[in-house]
Amino acid sequence: MAELPAQELPAREAMEFDVVIVGAGPAGLATAAALRSRGLNAAILEKSDAVGAVWRRHYDRLHLHTDRARSALSGMPMPKAYGRYPSRANVVEYLEAYAAKFNLKPVFNAPVRAVRRDGRTWRAEAGENSRTAPIVVIATGWADYPYAPTWPGIDEFGGPILHSSTYRNPAPFAGKRVLVVGYGNSGAEIALDLAEAGMDVSLSVRGPVNIVPRELFGVPILVFPAAEQWLPPRVADALNAPLVRFAIGSIEQVGLKRSLKGPLQSIAEDGRAPLIEIGTLDAIRDGRLKLRGDVVSFARESVAFKHSAAESFHAIILATGFRPDLRTLLPDAKDVLNATGAPLVSGRATAEPGLFFCGAIPSALGQFRQIGIEAQRIAEAAQA
Ligand SMILES: Cc1cc2nc3c(=O)[nH]c(=O)nc-3n(C[C@H](O)[C@H](O)[C@H](O)COP(=O)(O)OP(=O)(O)OC[C@H]3O[C@@H](n4cnc5c(N)ncnc54)[C@H](O)[C@@H]3O)c2cc1C
Repeated sequence: MAELPAQELPAREAMEFDVVIVGAGPAGLATAAALRSRGLNAAILEKSDAVGAVWRRHYDRLHLHTDRARSALSGMPMPKAYGRYPSRANVVEYLEAYAAKFNLKPVFNAPVRAVRRDGRTWRAEAGENSRTAPIVVIATGWADYPYAPTWPGIDEFGGPILHSSTYRNPAPFAGKRVLVVGYGNSGAEIALDLAEAGMDVSLSVRGPVNIVPRELFGVPILVFPAAEQWLPPRVADALNAPLVRFAIGSIEQVGLKRSLKGPLQSIAEDGRAPLIEIGTLDAIRDGRLKLRGDVVSFARESVAFKHSAAESFHAIILATGFRPDLRTLLPDAKDVLNATGAPLVSGRATAEPGLFFCGAIPSALGQFRQIGIEAQRIAEAAQA
């Protein structure tokens, strides 16, 4: 295989496609649309049989936590009829309409097994659907990489243990005592879903948290960081704190610990998004949802916690997030992934000429918004 001189890519006119995109979720579609609007032609390879596959299987009650105005991909607003916080079904419908508007025709049922450099081009290997182009964009998301920690005794637990990504609705848990582990946005909403359905549900919270209301005085919360970006995050947090407290009440009173860093400082320094409150705190306050500390160990029918006695549970839901590992997908790429296989950068040039990631690093200010920004940047770089 010929060695590729740094930054040198083959003449575009020699190739059928300017770009190969792996994945037809929001990131793959937004990138393809941004390329198309610059006159570039992308092949999209998608392993499932439809666009937005991951949104088709999220839990039933899911609505965007970010407001419609700040969640649309570039080039097409979300319809007003979706309301301020579009539902999961709205998002699927929007992604279908988005693909239609930009005439994007992904190749479906085309799982890409590996992406390798082939001389001066990149080859996405998907059997008879393999495609080659000078530029490849990895838009494979995190859904395939659920993270499930392990605890002493977990293999002895007699009931089901599932990851939040496979939770759909409360029906299978009727009459069961359920423990949700992890107080992120998914864990908070799933615990609330179970509590509202009258289940006996507990929520295990490991450490201090930052919780913000979904809106302040009727204004979506994402508006505030944008308006306050000229302030140091620590100062903006100090100004916002009384308003946040007014909106959500005392979290200490329900037994939660407030993070030492405020929401904006956490975003700026650690890339950690705050929890957006949609009713979980009320459920804790009125006793429908029980708060527990960090999990210490499992036994056949019970779970032991750090600061309280062991309790029996029938089922466990791990809302413990995702940890993408792209080492198998990119077996030869150098200096683009960290030691655990997560991309080092997203939405801009990597150490490998012609290789880009879109939406690969969580954005604390809304992933859809971030995907839109990255898609535009990738298209600009591809056109240059
Ligand atoms: C429960 C939940 C709620 C969220 N709510 C919000 C919100 O309110 N606001 C917000 O801004 N963000 C939200 N996000 C974050 C983010 O916007 C979504 O996860 C979004 O779907 C990410 O888009 P994506 O295209 O990067 O990845 P995905 O939607 O995961 O799409 C990746 C696509 O790639 C395909 N694929 C994967 N591997 C391969 C392969 N090897 N070959 C071919 N195809 C492949 C998959 O089938 C999939 O179609 C939420 C995420 C979750 C999990």
